[in-house]
Amino acid sequence: MHLTDIGANLTHSSFHDDLDAVATRARAANVGTVIITGTTVLESRLAAEIADRLDLYCTAGVHPHHARDFGEQTVTELRKLSLHPRCVAIGECGLDFNRNYSPHPAQEKCFISQLELALHLGKPLFLHSRDAHPRFAQILRTHGVKKAVAHCFTGEADELHAYLELDLYIGITGWICDERRGTHLLRLVRDIPADRLLLETDSPYLTPRDMKPQPKARRNEPAFLPHILKTVARALGRPPEEVAVQTTRNAARLFGIDESRASTTAQRTAAA
Ligand SMILES: [Zn+2]
Repeated sequence: MHLTDIGANLTHSSFHDDLDAVATRARAANVGTVIITGTTVLESRLAAEIADRLDLYCTAGVHPHHARDFGEQTVTELRKLSLHPRCVAIGECGLDFNRNYSPHPAQEKCFISQLELALHLGKPLFLHSRDAHPRFAQILRTHGVKKAVAHCFTGEADELHAYLELDLYIGITGWICDERRGTHLLRLVRDIPADRLLLETDSPYLTPRDMKPQPKARRNEPAFLPHILKTVARALGRPPEEVAVQTTRNAARLFGIDESRASTTAQRTAAA
């Protein structure tokens, strides 16, 4: 079995001291491919460094929380970062009308600049949307965005179907394991076509609440992806192995990751 964690915030300070061990544990748990999320220019640069060092992948983008810092130089910087051989997507970018750390006009400007960059480069987008439906889908539709993932989907049916109509991939996190606010996803995940489903931890956030025992300091990490896989597979009524193969194939297709290389890595780790 080989799994792909399409979203891990490994630049987060909580990983500062034991990143090598985290990567080793991920491989031991069959999470052979990890894509490190870039959320600012600085963090995207760091993500590329980590990806290089630990044989992982990364994205380059500016999260809507940081949209207020988005300047003229930012696109130039992101374009440079996107040329890195391990950078597989533009993002995390999008709209967050839940926390509203940046004003809406700044968020939209920052988002659209990155959409245009990705379309220009022919790269997929790693998208964040929180309480921003239907404005978010409207912007994607206007710009003709097709190659993208709505990462950490937590919304309702109308939002999901709007994204599927746009042919987006859907990223499912440990939110689906949350008995307080994620149970609707157990039903909704069945509406996602098999070739559009992706899995992610969003580490160090969103530790699956039903994991026993809970990890130290409740920090989530890529090695916990199989727990999310099992919950998703149960909700779909399909064997976890089958969902693993399908979601890894989907990630390889969207992000242009060589699947044979991924499986060789997994086999190498298994043999070691
Ligand atoms: Zn996000």
